[in-house]
Amino acid sequence: MTINNAAIIVAAGRGHRLGGEIPKQYLDVGGMPILRRTVNIFLKNPSIDLIQVIIHPDDTELYELAVGDLDLPTPIHGGETRQQSVLNGLEAISDHMPEYVYIHDAARPFLDQIILNNLIEEVELSGAVIPALKVTDTIKYMTGDKIDSTIDRNYLFRAQTPQAFRYKAIFMAHRRFENNELTDDSAIAEKSGLKVRVIPGSEDNFKITTESDLKKAEIMTGNNYTDVRIGYGIDVHAFEDGDHVTLGGIKIPHDKGLKGHSDADVALHAITDAILGAIAMGDIGEHFPPSDDKWKGASSDVFLKHAAKLVDEREGVIANIDLTIICEAPKIGPHRDLIRDKISEIIDLDIDRVSVKATTTERLGFTGKGEGIMAQAVATVRLPE
Ligand code: MG
Repeated sequence: MTINNAAIIVAAGRGHRLGGEIPKQYLDVGGMPILRRTVNIFLKNPSIDLIQVIIHPDDTELYELAVGDLDLPTPIHGGETRQQSVLNGLEAISDHMPEYVYIHDAARPFLDQIILNNLIEEVELSGAVIPALKVTDTIKYMTGDKIDSTIDRNYLFRAQTPQAFRYKAIFMAHRRFENNELTDDSAIAEKSGLKVRVIPGSEDNFKITTESDLKKAEIMTGNNYTDVRIGYGIDVHAFEDGDHVTLGGIKIPHDKGLKGHSDADVALHAITDAILGAIAMGDIGEHFPPSDDKWKGASSDVFLKHAAKLVDEREGVIANIDLTIICEAPKIGPHRDLIRDKISEIIDLDIDRVSVKATTTERLGFTGKGEGIMAQAVATVRLPE
């Protein structure tokens, strides 16, 4: 029987770095073993025809507890090295003659279907493709404890899994370079002369390696975010002479400016207060007193970032922001998406969790008479219990 797509889940590692008796891939995050989360991703994808898990011979019992009830072929035993384990897996599925194989680390349980589907699409075209992320830190080449030089990071990427290949090609490459102790399958493909394409990976698709990774994973499952808070913020600034207003971090041309100690960004001020309100940590004036010259003309993203950082320090997450800007002019509509993007960028929150609305007050009141702009915001924050 031939199939199209086979996945190999490498779960044979010992995970010593996390200490403890149980290898990390069998630890629970959010009440579910990491391996089970990983296997589920592939089970849910209709294009994947076969999922072969590779385990350590000592872990049969742990495997049964974690995924024994799922419809999977009998696990294959790994070898001394990761490379040997993958080769065992490739051999084990040879009867099925898959067209393509996706080799994935069991300790990456947050792979999303979009990346998996992109790989499935791309491997048909290029024959070898992996997800990777650009290196954003500056990289130093060290000799002992001294810096020798700075590496040009523009050429540096962090390889992730699943790594997708034409089955026959990667199987041959693995056989040919057996015992080379290469740390990923792409390295074996590269060594055998295959051209490996790269598609964007995701920060969420990280490998659980350290204690802090495990904590991050626990938080990502939302398991301990049961303390849900709602905060509300309101702000008003009056118009003065000027040629633009700053709303939601975006400069909008206007025949007036907004009067204020900082850049008078009513929208960001209202959101900042909403977040501070949700965690009951005062208001923007308390954190950034207008009496302090330090904040004169300040860009208000500083205030918003600070509020988000306080949530972070409580190990919480912002679930959503809903902002309403109230004015007759300028027109907000044309700038709405830019403002959403900007807020999403400032507090590193998914765009679908940032709402920006606008309304007039039908020429009534101070906003209606064009004396100033009001903004109101609601923020939902989730904290660990
Ligand atoms: Mg203000």
